[in-house]
Amino acid sequence: MELHFYNTMGRSMQLFTPLHDHHVGMYCCGPTVYNYAHIGNLRAYLFDDVLRRTLEYFGYDVTHVMNITDVGHLTDDEDEGEDKMLKSSRETGKSVWDIAAFYTEAFFHDIDSLHIKRPSVSCKATDHIQDMIALIKRLEDRGFTYEAGGNIYFSIDKFPDYGKLSMRDKQNLHAGARIAVDSNKRNPHDFVLWFTHSKFEHHSMLWDSPWGRGYPGWHIECSAMSMKYLGEQFDIHCGGIDHIPIHHTNEIAQSEAATGRKWVNYWMHNEFLIIGKGKMAKSSGEFLTLSVLVDKGYTPLDYRYFSLGGHYRSQLQFSYESLDAARKARENLYDRTLRLKEDASPCPFSQLGDKARTYLGHYEAALAYDLNTPKALSEMWMLLKDKDISPREKLTVLYKMDEVFGFNLEQLEQASVEVLDDEIMDLIKEREKARERRDWAKADTLRDLLLQRGISIKDTPEGTKWTKNV
Ligand code: AMP
Ligand code: ZN
Repeated sequence: MELHFYNTMGRSMQLFTPLHDHHVGMYCCGPTVYNYAHIGNLRAYLFDDVLRRTLEYFGYDVTHVMNITDVGHLTDDEDEGEDKMLKSSRETGKSVWDIAAFYTEAFFHDIDSLHIKRPSVSCKATDHIQDMIALIKRLEDRGFTYEAGGNIYFSIDKFPDYGKLSMRDKQNLHAGARIAVDSNKRNPHDFVLWFTHSKFEHHSMLWDSPWGRGYPGWHIECSAMSMKYLGEQFDIHCGGIDHIPIHHTNEIAQSEAATGRKWVNYWMHNEFLIIGKGKMAKSSGEFLTLSVLVDKGYTPLDYRYFSLGGHYRSQLQFSYESLDAARKARENLYDRTLRLKEDASPCPFSQLGDKARTYLGHYEAALAYDLNTPKALSEMWMLLKDKDISPREKLTVLYKMDEVFGFNLEQLEQASVEVLDDEIMDLIKEREKARERRDWAKADTLRDLLLQRGISIKDTPEGTKWTKNV
């Protein structure tokens, strides 16, 4: 099946044609590990995961590269402010290295619990300083850099295509520019490739370079590491829409200036998760982590379901009411899957009837046309509710659909008494007693406790049933 994606470069829906037959190289901007990821950030990684799984579903072999930023990302994307890692170190009294190690582990814990496939390559900026220096050297040799106040800058006036992704021409850029705080810059949109001790003297992560001891700017890491692992041209580059005007614009300028040719073919950007009236952001204070949701009794997969319910290019409004609805739908999905499993085993593909094939076809068409996960989910529900389709066919199609949804339904088990440990059995019994006493508050508290231990509860006319969330 042909795939179409919306390419931010050119702002149009385009047929996807990879550079190499069945192989796709994709680079996704990863976390800056100075704090926990918030659930807005996690929306971006869930989008990457859906894209990767869709490509794999349609038979591509995907090399998925993601960076871990552990140096050089300032509190302002335009080179102002303090290094985020350093700020966190100052605030906590821990070393930047300890902070990076702690939040990197926390990040992988989050993405594992959301069933986001681990990237084929996760690369730390601090492990690739020499690659960045080599790239800056290349830019210097080609005349795209200048030194001022001890720092090395990229001169955007030397790169005629600057701003082609954000569709802002240089004229508009100048008009919209803030008054540059960094008086070293010849053009306010020039950006730092290499900082030396002349700025941020207190920086504790320093490396020798041809321009003095210092550290790299943030943008150069993504160019250097993506090219190292995917080659000088590759298929897809992803990130949130906030990266379009600065980070990705600068990545393109320095990569194409260094190689002298087109760098990436498809640029794909996810819209924001919104809370209240604005984007969820660490700076705004309105920032929720996955563990806050888990503490409130949700499972990470409730958030995965919630996120699949919105198209990646639409803003998604977060509310607990919507998350409750997602939880209910996910529990319902688990429940139906378990009931199907009790009744049947999947059948071979060749035995699928026309109706089952049609739902699968619609699901595939939805994903193939710019990753329409809400439509794909609705096809799944229509399949599950269709009385003309046998349980065997349903299971076959459901497991196939789940390759992109990622709930691991094939592995889902009705938790039996044997697999539950004593503490959980006690909690279940205590909750049943609370319900008999009509002590609903107590029953709800116990339900939340069980959820935190990965057990979903469902009260049915035949008694309480439970499911282990895998
Ligand atoms: P950062 O750690 O700030 O570089 O962000 C990591 C990823 O999350 C980037 O791709 C951002 O564009 C994305 N992102 C940040 N805030 C949000 C949000 N509220 N909703 C969706 N994506 C976001
Ligand atoms: Zn990046």
